Amino acid sequence: MSRGIQVALLSIFFSVIGAWPCGAQSFDIIQVADGVYAAIGKPGVASNGAFIVNSEDVLVVDTHMRPSWARELVAEIRKITDKPVRYVVNTHWHPDHTQGNQAYLNAFGAGVEYLAQHNTREDIIHKAIPSIQQQLTQGVPASIEGFEKALAEGRDAQGNPLTEQTRPQLERQLASLKSYLEELKQIQITLPTLTFERSLILHKRTAAGAERPIHVYFFGKGHTRGDVVVYLPKEKVVVTGDLLTNGIPFMRDAYPSQWIGTLESTQKLDWERAIPGHGGVQQGKGQIEKLIAYMKEMVAGVKDAIAKGTSLEDAKKSLDLRKHAASFPNFQQASPSAIERNWAELTGKIQD
Ligand SMILES: [Zn+2]
Repeated sequence: MSRGIQVALLSIFFSVIGAWPCGAQSFDIIQVADGVYAAIGKPGVASNGAFIVNSEDVLVVDTHMRPSWARELVAEIRKITDKPVRYVVNTHWHPDHTQGNQAYLNAFGAGVEYLAQHNTREDIIHKAIPSIQQQLTQGVPASIEGFEKALAEGRDAQGNPLTEQTRPQLERQLASLKSYLEELKQIQITLPTLTFERSLILHKRTAAGAERPIHVYFFGKGHTRGDVVVYLPKEKVVVTGDLLTNGIPFMRDAYPSQWIGTLESTQKLDWERAIPGHGGVQQGKGQIEKLIAYMKEMVAGVKDAIAKGTSLEDAKKSLDLRKHAASFPNFQQASPSAIERNWAELTGKIQD
């Protein structure tokens, strides 16, 4: 595995261990249309899923970082319907969207079909599965060591003394990491069983018998080289994976120039609510429009810097995107990873 991939995977990992849910429940289950539900990950779970209850079966979108979280979602689905999950869509290969795949096979048997774009299946094999070893041997043990050291010394990573509030938080995080380490030893990611290049449509019916086509589209590269969106034209709902989140999405595996077109194709679909990869359910197209505006300006700035012969380091210092700060809770002035990745894309440095 290349150093770049290792760094990217560690970044994903640390982005999802920042906090842990306080209660036993990992998701807020939100009905967004008749038979259509968002599973919004609570802090610490972070990544979202969705499920669609049809007349005969259930389709699930994305499976989270931990199989135990996927099992929790199975329990939530069973509170709502006794129909079996027959389809799991992986919007892309990242571990926080695929590592729970096996939970559906275990719960519903060999009839479950796993749907993904061709590239996502390849990337699960060549990136997500190797990343488990990376997490097992490096990422998680290093984090556990960090927490144990902080607790032993009575100071956090910044050197601040632990308080009555912060010590129990760290103890909970440490316990959670240890249980994640045990889960990692058992994970065998179930691979997509049905892959496609551009699109497919499942011709389903609602519980009430109405027609419910479920469209799955690959519009081009974006957050990864295999992102798909799940679109329900009758319900006017789209499930976007990490092409759209409530902030600036993770960029280290991205193709920012091509992402703009992928977002514009998604925006053109007729929908009123979006279930994003991270963050709450979005009403209307405001957030996707903000992301398109940000990406266009960032890509134009990088193109301009390359044309003028500016260095990457100077471009990172000079490209001023602050007017977009209010659009994204995680905004960083220089957006260094976005600029770096776009630079690599535009100068032909990305191999796949
Ligand atoms: Zn992702």
